[in-house]
Amino acid sequence: MPISELKLAKDLIRRPSITPRDAGAINILAKNLRSLGFKCQIINFKNIKNLYAKLGRSSPNFCYAGHTDVVPPGNINEWTVNPFKPAVKNNKLIGRGANDMKASIACFVAAVSRFKIKNKKFRGSISLLITGDEEGIAINGTKRVVKYLKRKKEKINFCLVGEPTNPNKLGEMIKIGRRGSITGRLAVIGTQGHVAYPHRANNPSNAMVKILKRIKETKLDNGTKNFQASNLEIIKININNNADNVIPGSADTVFNIRFNNKHSSSSLKKKLNAIFKSVTKKTKCKFRVQYEVSGESFVTKPNKTTYMIQSTVKKITGIKPKLSTTGGTSDARFIRKIAPCLEFGLVGKTMHKIDESVSVSDLKKLTYIYQSILENYFK
Ligand SMILES: [Zn+2]
Repeated sequence: MPISELKLAKDLIRRPSITPRDAGAINILAKNLRSLGFKCQIINFKNIKNLYAKLGRSSPNFCYAGHTDVVPPGNINEWTVNPFKPAVKNNKLIGRGANDMKASIACFVAAVSRFKIKNKKFRGSISLLITGDEEGIAINGTKRVVKYLKRKKEKINFCLVGEPTNPNKLGEMIKIGRRGSITGRLAVIGTQGHVAYPHRANNPSNAMVKILKRIKETKLDNGTKNFQASNLEIIKININNNADNVIPGSADTVFNIRFNNKHSSSSLKKKLNAIFKSVTKKTKCKFRVQYEVSGESFVTKPNKTTYMIQSTVKKITGIKPKLSTTGGTSDARFIRKIAPCLEFGLVGKTMHKIDESVSVSDLKKLTYIYQSILENYFK
């Protein structure tokens, strides 16, 4: 009997696996995979549960990657169902993780169960790399599993990441890369003083305003063949001052840049630091800056598997998916270090929202797509 994607999706959603909690989600998955003959390795890093499961031993190894953790539900009273008691209404499965991304994992497992019935002996192996730490800080998840697999000399020949990639309709978009992301926290330090005696103080807000104008007006690029233009957004401006007659001593800002492959985090840091230096020098202020890099930009050059997946999706959905690099970061940024990868999953319209949902007919279609991808890959 093949595994039902809807039943498994519901079983997974019932586990409130809000990062870093696992709540039994990985075990449910492992149980289903074992019933199909997979060897399951549960790999714990700190408080995070990860799973590497494999069916078969020979090469090539086709891997599916995803995560069982979910973001918090927000205000439960705003949901039309309990986010962890999934229900189908108007042909839609509603629950936290319905499209990001428990249901996609369920579709892949269901696809393998069907593939196996038709192909008892196939040449190669199928694996799943599943983490419980994608929505959080993601240091004990895929990043470490990838290092572990590398150490064990485990070879993955191609990896399909099942994140929701389609903006509105199943079939619209395959992701072949991602933009990089860097966050900067800048403090400009001047000299505090009496507002009526500005010559005895040095207001850092003047320098801050100049800096913000310059970094916002710096054109980073016009985009590339595979990427949209890089963009800087100012997220926070803060001058902590409770008195109206005091010139503040410092001013803070936080900004984030989503950047394409014309830059790296270090080239951006250099560019920004030069601006901070020049403005603070002219205004006789000092500055401190801290950066957090959540990923460099990357693109996987499309290969024959990419085009096979693109045409498989087109055959089933009637839409030729665009090969895109838009959106946020994903675990593909770690996996691409050991294997070529692309991303294709459900429609992400409601991800992280109240009443996250997925169309039940999309679930069936995605299972069929994943099954056909396996059949074409191992043909
Ligand atoms: Zn996700």
